[in-house]
Amino acid sequence: SGTLYIVPTPIGNLSDISSRALDILKEVDLIAAEDTRHTSRLLSHYSIGTSTISMHDHNEAARSNQLTSKLLEGKNIALVSDAGTPLISDPGFIFVRDCREKGIPVIALPGPCALTTALSASGLPTDKFTFHGFLPVKQQAKAEALKLLTNSGSTTVFYEAPRRIRDTIAACHENLQEDHEIVLAKEISKTFETYKQGRAEAILEWLDADPVHQKGEFVLMIYCPNNLNSDGASQEALSLLALLAKELP
Ligand code: SAM
Repeated sequence: SGTLYIVPTPIGNLSDISSRALDILKEVDLIAAEDTRHTSRLLSHYSIGTSTISMHDHNEAARSNQLTSKLLEGKNIALVSDAGTPLISDPGFIFVRDCREKGIPVIALPGPCALTTALSASGLPTDKFTFHGFLPVKQQAKAEALKLLTNSGSTTVFYEAPRRIRDTIAACHENLQEDHEIVLAKEISKTFETYKQGRAEAILEWLDADPVHQKGEFVLMIYCPNNLNSDGASQEALSLLALLAKELP
């Protein structure tokens, strides 16, 4: 059968696409794109004439059926999303799973992803981190998610939309502890790329200082250095103790 290629595309700067990615996009029989109009701008910028077909949240299951048949006939297909790595808070999961089940080879190219890019420049610990995509939109669910997810002893990463960033940072201010550190990465690889670091309150002040600060795309990263439980011991120390206890006579 043919091969499905997962091809990451730029998250802002059009030059952030690998030469291998461009070769694959040129050579495949078909490109499955989250939004074909959006992808056609990238393709015309690089003079790539490959046909595209839409694959998004609302047609993925049906499309997957259709495209796996083409793959089984020997066609090669590339999957792209609007920006960054497909399947990372983007469509593609149903399709890739379907390919795996049908024995179709799937090859993912390494490339742009807002999550790993933001994290690597954040100055927060990167040895362990958890990624939770987008926070719930409703206030109560958002507050609960923030309280539940940000005390793991590792860095917690969320994506956030511009229209919600102020609300979300306000929720951080209300629900996180005083010592939670926040880094907000904004407009990565674009002209107004900014990393803003501090407590929730200071970040809220910064967002309110100028409406322009709230415009753009954001990665929100949260870390609690003194991740203490009610006995004053860190979660990490407690789990280490539990491990050690098993080994002790
Ligand atoms: N698949 C993409 C990836 O690999 O990063 C993510 C897609 S998700 C639908 C879009 C979200 O990613 C945005 O709301 C924002 O949180 C984040 N994002 C994408 N591009 C970004 C950029 N240039 N700067 C900061 N965040 C970005």
